[in-house]
Amino acid sequence: MPDTPQLQTQLDAIEARFRQRLDDELDTLDALSAQLQQNPDALPNLRDRLHKLAGSAGTFGYVELGVLARDLEEQAQQQLEATCLDPQALIALTKAGAQLRPLLQRSEQREAQPQQLDAGSPDDDRHRRIGLLIEDAGLARQMAQTLDSFGYQVIPFATPAAVQAAPSLDALIIDTSPPGNRLLEHPVFQQAPGQLPPLLIISSLDTFSSRLQAVRAGAVGFFTKPVDLPLLERRLERDFSSQQGGPFRVLIVDDDTELTARYQLVLSNAGIRVDTVSDANLLLDKMHKFIPEVVLMDLNMPEYSGPELAQVIRLDDDWLRVPIVYLSAETNAERQMSALLKAGDDFITKPISDSTLLTTVYARAQRARMVSDALARDSLTGLLKHADIKEQLELEAERAKRSQAPVSVAMIDIDHFKNVNDSYGHACGDNVIRALSNMLRQRLRKVDRLGRYGGEEFVAVLPGCSSKDATQLLESIREAFNALQFSSGGQQFHCSFSAGISACEADAWADEELLERADRALYRAKQSGRNRLCRDDGVPD
Ligand code: GH3
Ligand code: MG
Ligand code: MG
Repeated sequence: MPDTPQLQTQLDAIEARFRQRLDDELDTLDALSAQLQQNPDALPNLRDRLHKLAGSAGTFGYVELGVLARDLEEQAQQQLEATCLDPQALIALTKAGAQLRPLLQRSEQREAQPQQLDAGSPDDDRHRRIGLLIEDAGLARQMAQTLDSFGYQVIPFATPAAVQAAPSLDALIIDTSPPGNRLLEHPVFQQAPGQLPPLLIISSLDTFSSRLQAVRAGAVGFFTKPVDLPLLERRLERDFSSQQGGPFRVLIVDDDTELTARYQLVLSNAGIRVDTVSDANLLLDKMHKFIPEVVLMDLNMPEYSGPELAQVIRLDDDWLRVPIVYLSAETNAERQMSALLKAGDDFITKPISDSTLLTTVYARAQRARMVSDALARDSLTGLLKHADIKEQLELEAERAKRSQAPVSVAMIDIDHFKNVNDSYGHACGDNVIRALSNMLRQRLRKVDRLGRYGGEEFVAVLPGCSSKDATQLLESIREAFNALQFSSGGQQFHCSFSAGISACEADAWADEELLERADRALYRAKQSGRNRLCRDDGVPD
């Protein structure tokens, strides 16, 4: 059985979609088999369709239909192999479509539960709704202000019961302090997983048992007081982006085309993008083109073994993060171990039920995406790292070229930052870096890309933005950052940054040049007095 209601909904949706296709498929089979007497050329097509139906119907609970399809497929195959067609057999096959449909109806009458379709994907553009169950009024206010400035819709609750009555939330933040309070024991938090939104727990105790209690209540995040709000916001963003980052990509390496087709059907019907490799020579090429997040690998293929191919994949550092899961009829634990020792991460033993396949692939893909995301992001600011922001710039520049839309790049560097470290200490310097990164993140749009390019240097890529618009935006951020008051050891101080902006408004420049030009403009901004912006035309604003 699937572990989560979400997965169940997905399985239900797969079945409903399969059912819909089945109707069309039976119509096509009807038509094809009816043609057969006049047109025996339809036979190979009929055989192929029966074969596909035989492979999938049983998986979806239409067992009798699957068996009959297999039987008819074999008859068709015999006819194709025969030197001359047997008219009797052909007549039998012309009734194939008509024979199949009653079985479909029979299977359905036995269905106890009506099928339910997925309610549809959430509207990604609406504001995320974050519930707050926080007694401490000061913390609640501060939290609401911060989350609001990040664009979340904040809904405060006074009691757990009020949470239950509220419309659907995207996350719920609960303050469990003071210690010993029994908030998490409230029946609202004792519901089955999946009934509640993702929980983020705030505690004044940083102990193993307080963390364990949070996990038992179904928490996905745990924060101790004083709460690092940017960190909490990053956690929320990470959760949402792992739900959002497009469909998972799964590569199936198996020489059994029928099974591959079945796995592909199950996975792609659950919204997972699937590609397949049956010829191992094409494996690496396919990996580079498709960039899978999970590889499903057959253990035994005629010319290669799964562990051999897994080792070939692992020779390339690019694929270290990608889990490799063997699909195998191997139940011998020792032989499984020896395969895993060579390379690979997990086993699923054939025959594989849909829910096992989906659960394993989902869990692996989700984890792989989270790790990959965490590795791509800088730990101090949560922004993209040097190499990743450069990659994003390349992508956006390419896109801009294709669509003839402008794209701007800003290179931002904090002024005299060494002095901040020297005067107030490194930790205080870190806070300044975080403050600027949060401010940039708050003020840029969702489509903009932002990375920490170096120590106190940032790169923002602004698609669809002319250099004039980019300058205007950065100017307002420059002013706001300069107005921020920092404090350290009783002393107060302000910081500033300089920025260089370049833009590509036609397809005139390569992306590397965009960055170089922004860097040159930044240099001019520094030379001409700091705390200012320069555009790549060299005219200070
Ligand atoms: P300018 O106005 O010309 O940019 O001067 P600057 O002092 O900001 O530039 P410089 O490149 O001389 O110094 C940057 C300093 O930033 C040096 C380095 O120790 C510090 N730094 C780099 N990364 C971090 C970090 O993660 N945290 C802190 N606190 N300091 C960092
Ligand atoms: Mg600097
Ligand atoms: Mg610098």
